[in-house]
Amino acid sequence: MSHDCLFCKIAQHQIPSTIVYEDDEFMAFKDINPAAPVHLLLVPKHHVESLAGVEAGDTDWLGRMLRLAPQIAYDNGCNPGSAGGFRLVANTGIEGGQEIAHLHFHILGGARPWDKRAAPAA
Ligand code: 5GP
Ligand code: ZN
Repeated sequence: MSHDCLFCKIAQHQIPSTIVYEDDEFMAFKDINPAAPVHLLLVPKHHVESLAGVEAGDTDWLGRMLRLAPQIAYDNGCNPGSAGGFRLVANTGIEGGQEIAHLHFHILGGARPWDKRAAPAA
């Protein structure tokens, strides 16, 4: 736990969030400023700054975290099948657009009405 870290505080229930998944190691909650119809953040409960900080000993929990992403996506509104799906984004570092220095996967999905491939046949 990093005492000044927003996502540590959310993961420890010290700051409220709309939690959609939780186990001993991970939490997923709704992004406060959604950029898509479904916009979730998946975090490890222990403090890791970013993907830039992971080491060989982290591959087990990172694998479990990655494995959780589709389960959480499809349980929370991302559409199934090849016409559905989701994006998984891990902004890393300042030039990677990372604002919160606690590793998180953005899970983004839902209808894309501007995408002609997703439009129903006329
Ligand atoms: P980053 O830019 O670090 O990859 O993404 C940080 C994300 O955290 C942003 O999409 C932002 O909307 C979200 N966020 C920032 N503060 C809070 C908060 O207090 N609660 C929740 N649920 N999301 C937050
Ligand atoms: Zn943290």
